Amino acid sequence: MTVRTRLAPTPSGALHVGNAFSFLLAWLWARHQGGKVVLRIEDVDTTRSRPDWIEAVFRDLEWLGLDWEEGPQGPSDAQSPFRQSSPLRQERYQTIWREWSASGQLYPCRCTRSDLRTDAPQIQQIGEAQDFGIPYVGRCRHRTFSDAAPSDAWRLRLDDDPSTIDDLWMGRHELSRLSQIGDPVLRRGDGCTAYHLAVCLDDFDQGITHVVRGRDLLGFTHLHVYLHKLMNNFCPPKFLHHGLLGDHQGLRLAKRIGSESLTGMRCQGMDSRLLVAKLAKRLYPQALAGSIRCTPHELLTLGSPLPLTGDQTWIPLALESL
Ligand SMILES: [Zn+2]
Repeated sequence: MTVRTRLAPTPSGALHVGNAFSFLLAWLWARHQGGKVVLRIEDVDTTRSRPDWIEAVFRDLEWLGLDWEEGPQGPSDAQSPFRQSSPLRQERYQTIWREWSASGQLYPCRCTRSDLRTDAPQIQQIGEAQDFGIPYVGRCRHRTFSDAAPSDAWRLRLDDDPSTIDDLWMGRHELSRLSQIGDPVLRRGDGCTAYHLAVCLDDFDQGITHVVRGRDLLGFTHLHVYLHKLMNNFCPPKFLHHGLLGDHQGLRLAKRIGSESLTGMRCQGMDSRLLVAKLAKRLYPQALAGSIRCTPHELLTLGSPLPLTGDQTWIPLALESL
């Protein structure tokens, strides 16, 4: 099996240092095993993506020294199947929606946020349920295809089975999809396909074998695994959720600090090898102890990029010294 990972930026804002760490790890994971890297622009929500942010994705990746085998030709390649807004992908998402809504896997929902808030106290929120926003308790579950209105959202009918995943970084993780996440919206009332459906269909169609991303999405992976099963994907990807970058005090990095924007660093003329070395020290702490700068390609001689295991929710990163 050839390893295939993807760099999957969402152009709804500037990319930050956390994205750079994810991309670097995904890239190293594939390259170290002689695999391939796919670039996918996750602009399924066209109301939130902007052309200048898409342009910046290409410039930032080039600046970091990351390359890929498959992906859009460039920022203006709107027809690429590696761009979620392309007509080809949109038709694919629609096809699944039509199939699943007609078969009863999806049901129409017209609940407002206020409805969700009203219902929420009826359930016991535990642990990571907080990561999923207001859980849906199934107010519209009795509804069917025949009483749907054009402005309805569509939710997936989840089963009540407990879910277990074996993450390549975090280890075993268990969760109850139905009580902790609740039936998710797969198509919004405005007709936009939800992230969860788009990303799973993309991973399936693009033959992605490994998904590398931050620990904040670990819970939703239980939903993604379920979606792959519904799609009859008999070779679903394996998942690697890395700890999130944090500062000296263990606080998670946030976009509010301007210096974290890759575009900001690039435009200030910073040498990207400084950042790559800083990020890579989290992966190769001994080999890079004395290194100040390096390129992604130079890291390929250092072996597998996975020395850290266990639930390291925040990885300290001293950006101040860059
Ligand atoms: Zn509803």
